[in-house]
Amino acid sequence: MMTDDIIHKGSRDAGRANMPDYRQEATTFSWTEARALLDGLADGKLNIAHECVDRHLSRDSGSKVALRFVHKNDSITDITYNDLSILTNRFANVLLSLGLVTGERVYSLLGRKPELYIVSLGSLKAGMVFSPLFSAFGPEPVLSRLEIGAARVLVTTNALYKRKVAPIRDRLPQLEHVLLIDSKKEGDGLLSFESEMQHASTEFNVVATDPEDTALLHFTSGTTGRPKGAIHVHEAVVAHCYTGRVALDLKPDDNYWCTADPGWVTGTSYGIIAPLANGVTMVVDEAEFDIERWYRILESQRVSVWYTAPTAIRMLMAAGTEAASKRDLSNIRFMASVGEPLNPEAVLWSADTFGKPFHDNWWQTETGGIMIANFASMDVKPGSMGMPLPGIVASIVERDNGDVSHVTKPMGIGELVLKTPWPSMMRGYLNEEQRYKKCFSDGWYLTGDLAMRDSDGYYWFVGRSDDVIKSAGHLIGPFEVESALIEHAAVSEAAVIGLPDELAGEVAKAYVALNPGFEPSEGLQLDIRGHARKRLGPAVAPREIIFRKKLPKTRSGKIMRRLLKAREMGLPEGDISTLETDEK
Ligand code: AMP
Repeated sequence: MMTDDIIHKGSRDAGRANMPDYRQEATTFSWTEARALLDGLADGKLNIAHECVDRHLSRDSGSKVALRFVHKNDSITDITYNDLSILTNRFANVLLSLGLVTGERVYSLLGRKPELYIVSLGSLKAGMVFSPLFSAFGPEPVLSRLEIGAARVLVTTNALYKRKVAPIRDRLPQLEHVLLIDSKKEGDGLLSFESEMQHASTEFNVVATDPEDTALLHFTSGTTGRPKGAIHVHEAVVAHCYTGRVALDLKPDDNYWCTADPGWVTGTSYGIIAPLANGVTMVVDEAEFDIERWYRILESQRVSVWYTAPTAIRMLMAAGTEAASKRDLSNIRFMASVGEPLNPEAVLWSADTFGKPFHDNWWQTETGGIMIANFASMDVKPGSMGMPLPGIVASIVERDNGDVSHVTKPMGIGELVLKTPWPSMMRGYLNEEQRYKKCFSDGWYLTGDLAMRDSDGYYWFVGRSDDVIKSAGHLIGPFEVESALIEHAAVSEAAVIGLPDELAGEVAKAYVALNPGFEPSEGLQLDIRGHARKRLGPAVAPREIIFRKKLPKTRSGKIMRRLLKAREMGLPEGDISTLETDEK
């Protein structure tokens, strides 16, 4: 939905922003200048961990709090930049003592605990590749991601190990070392994170990685096949640092809260790297979403910049303004949102409730960093994602086989594309050259999202051009879910689609056809749902299971998810000339 409301920013707002004049900056911008925001290492080398941690020590910021953990019981643990430097040195030494060499992959399967931040930055310091897994994944998503990356090291907790890794460990011959953060015992292929850290030296010289060396492996989902491992390099920190400055308006004195979990790309790019590269104090809440708790944290931690997601904003909005009005939230200076479309109503509600609007921005795992944003100095059009980052050229195109033609008409719908390259652009999908190549045409990166651009240059999200589902900000690949469903003895075929949901944006719904000998029943429905939750975890499993005699398929045997969705939503069925079998 679009609205005619525009939230105007006065010259006072603009003057206080890190980027006071978007149009001017967009004209004069160069990535070389953005790189000058960082220190770099001798001989043109660059290491994300140095930029995030050690360089702040030489600027007398060592005693500043880098990470402030709000534990589930509300107690606080502060980690200064000095502490973080020592702890990441220790972890880098642990990795060397395990015999790892530069470029090997270190995985984490952890909630938002201090160890997650130590492991990520310590791995980067040691020149290893860090790959975070979401702690709410079930064993199947964990297995596929560890397999694809041939993980040698995993850091996790006792409970997560028992539930999600132990059952699949024999299928992971390359996984040599599992470090448990809450266990003192060693043996049986398990190591104690604490004892290894205690024995490790506090001295470490950051590995002088090349800017093009791989730093991060982030998994994302497509419509078909297994998850894709997007490769990101150390150079990405140039975009993280710059976007932190201009799209989140981070300033050194900020108390910044990114509510995203580092198991997903936002929680790493903007929940670890961008804020620390900008030298701010970052608030980390270890607990799950809770309206009262969130307002309490905003107040008690004097949060000044807040980066969150539409599902949470909609839940805050649904709870009304009373909970917010009981708190002193006057420290909040800038609020941003990402991950799904942000309804114009939510933007207007936030402007009323907090005296300032949420600033929507857009990006993807593949782009590594924010690409389109409502910047602090810019008028906000509620419902729009904003304008391209200085240094980024965006366009709307129509694709015809290999050719792209640009849609110039204002508000013409087409695929959102971005001119390559930029520092945080993925450098490949691990071991999947063909899938990677398909993302580009004629020097443009094809995002797979449909969008429009208005006559002022603001971009508006329309939808995905594929069947990928976005639920509560998490990308779900239908194929991954369907694969888990058909492992159930009763299921012969499955199709998973995303349906609109007021709070979560979309929810996954599964249609299944049964094997001979099985009849639809409520008990079977529950059993299949339970199976899916156990294998995939609650964040990925479908919320509803529907029985069908047959699923609609093309002549080539592909299930037509689109048709199921159109029927479910009462929309036109579109071209069904390739339909072979039907559910009816
Ligand atoms: P991910 O790679 O998991 O970060 O998901 C990226 C996808 O999330 C994009 O391709 C969009 O479909 C969606 N997305 C991200 N930000 C926005 C936004 N501001 N508005 C609408 N959709 C968004």
